[in-house]
Amino acid sequence: MPAALLDGKKLAAAMQAEIAAGTAALFAQRGIRPGLATVLIGDDFASHKYVAGKRKACAEVGMASFHHEMPASVSQTEVLDLVARLNADPAVHGILIQLPLPKQLDEAVLIRTVDPAKDVDVFHPENVGLLATGHPRSLPCTPHGVQQLLLRNNVNLDGAHVVIVGRSNIVGKPLALILMQRAPGANATVTVCHSRTRGLADLTRRADVLVVAIGQARFLTADMVRPGAVVVDVGMNRLPDGKLAGDVDFAGVSQVAGAITPVPGGVGPMTITMLLHNTLQAAREAST
Ligand code: NAP
Repeated sequence: MPAALLDGKKLAAAMQAEIAAGTAALFAQRGIRPGLATVLIGDDFASHKYVAGKRKACAEVGMASFHHEMPASVSQTEVLDLVARLNADPAVHGILIQLPLPKQLDEAVLIRTVDPAKDVDVFHPENVGLLATGHPRSLPCTPHGVQQLLLRNNVNLDGAHVVIVGRSNIVGKPLALILMQRAPGANATVTVCHSRTRGLADLTRRADVLVVAIGQARFLTADMVRPGAVVVDVGMNRLPDGKLAGDVDFAGVSQVAGAITPVPGGVGPMTITMLLHNTLQAAREAST
C-alpha cells in the first residue's frame, strides 16, 4: 500500500495521556475532577455502544461520568427537567445528549437548553455562532479530531485545497468553519460538496486534502482521488456481515493517496478524545 496510514488509534492514545495528566493536575491543584454527564434515550444499539465507549474513556483519563438512561417513550418535559438539573450541578462540566433522539423529542430545543458552557459537543447555536465568527469557545469533536489528525501528522493546511464531501451540522459544515479560520493550523481553501453537487469527481480530484463524511460504504473510489492526496474517511457504516466500513474504498484509494485514515482506527477514536479535551477545558473554565 503506497499511502501512509494516519493512525487515529495511536494518536488518540497519546492525546488521552496528555488529557489524563491535565485532569490529574486540575484535581491536585484545585480539587476539581472534570465530570461528563451522558444522556442516553431509547434502545438504539449503536448509541448504547458509543455512550459506553465515551464513559470508558472518561474513566481511563480519571474523569467522572454521570450516566442517565431514559426510555424511548420519555416526554420532552422529562428530558428538559433532567437537562436543567445537570446545568445546575457543579460536579457536571460537560453534558452530552446522545443523538439521534426518538421522534417525539425536539432536538433543536433540547440542544438550546444545554448551558453553552457545558455544551461539550459544541452544538448550541451560541457556540456554533462563536465558531462561525472566528472566536470559538471550543471546537466540535469530530471535526476537531480530523484537524488534529492532520496537524499532528504534519499535513500543512495553510493554503491547501481541502474538499469536504458532506455538509451535516455535525461533521461537514463545522469542519469547513474550522479549516477556513484565519488561524494557525487552518487557513485552508475549503470546498464543501453534497448530494446536489455537480461533477463531484472533478472537485474531489482537485483536493490536496479530501474528507468524506456521507454515510455510504466505500463510496469514494480511487479514480476520484488525485495521486498523493491526503484522504480522511469519517464514515462509519455497518455492513450486512456486521463489519464496519468507511465511506472510502480503502483497498483502491490507498493505492493512489499519499496518506489515508483507516476505518476503524482513524477518525472514530479522535472524536472521543476531543470530547474529553472539551470536558477538561470546561472544568478548567468553570473553576476560574
Ligand atoms: P448526514 O447527516 O447523513 O449527512 C450526510 C451528508 O452527505 C449530507 O450533507 C448529504 O448531502 C451528503 N451526501 C450523501 N450522499 C452523498 C453523495 N452521494 N454525494 C455527495 N454527498 C452526499 O451524515 P453525518 O452525520 O455527517 O455522518 C456521515 C458519516 O460519518 C456517517 O457514516 C456517520 O456514521 C459518520 N460519523 C462518524 C463519526 C466518527 O466519530 N467517526 C462522527 C459522526 C459521523 P445533502 O445535505 O445534500 O443531503
